Amino acid sequence: MTSFTETFEKCGICGTFTKHMVMLSTNSFGSPDLDLRPPGMKRHTMDEWLQECPKCGYVSVFIGEIKEGVREIVEGEEYSALHTGPLSGTLANRFLKASLISECLGNRKGAGTYALYAAWAADDVGDRATARTARLKAAEHYMGVASRLEKRDPTSTRAITLKTQTVDILRRSGRWEEAEQLADSLSEQQIDAKIKAVINFQKSLLRQRNDSPHRVNDIINIDERNKINSQ
Ligand SMILES: [Zn+2]
Repeated sequence: MTSFTETFEKCGICGTFTKHMVMLSTNSFGSPDLDLRPPGMKRHTMDEWLQECPKCGYVSVFIGEIKEGVREIVEGEEYSALHTGPLSGTLANRFLKASLISECLGNRKGAGTYALYAAWAADDVGDRATARTARLKAAEHYMGVASRLEKRDPTSTRAITLKTQTVDILRRSGRWEEAEQLADSLSEQQIDAKIKAVINFQKSLLRQRNDSPHRVNDIINIDERNKINSQ
């Protein structure tokens, strides 16, 4: 069960008081999607993942807090354009604004993750164009982080995980060739059996030009079906 409590927050940028729901508990029973979108009730709590000030548009986990440099970003041209643009008021836009803040603060992992959340929010309302743009942004940030990690350690498992997630992000955006190239390059690396199974599954989806969401459990089910068929 998901439980909430109400809280009042004073915006750290403009001082406006607003009421917010804070999630006390939820569950994520079941299998995540291949891009790690959570299952269970958590999947449907995205409205509560970030607070947003209705006046100045600042978004954060707690809008009462502001990190150094954030005021300049929120009051800047790019953020304002996003805040008042065509996606104004949508959940996808809330995550895109958070992505921009992370990007400007130099946190590319955060920027990628918030862009991916924006894609999930856009998926839920059938906004395919925004979902695609947000996914490409997420892929770009994740690949940037992976490349930085690999410079320090060519066998970085975090880089492998990010690149595996990016194969799915690219596939869901219909970037077939890029997704295939990335999947092929991962196959040539030292990867564990679980990642290998994910990559092989992705390759079969890519051959079918399949851009639908799939769950991690779908791989296990396919493996089991193959075992039964080969008996
Ligand atoms: Zn505000």
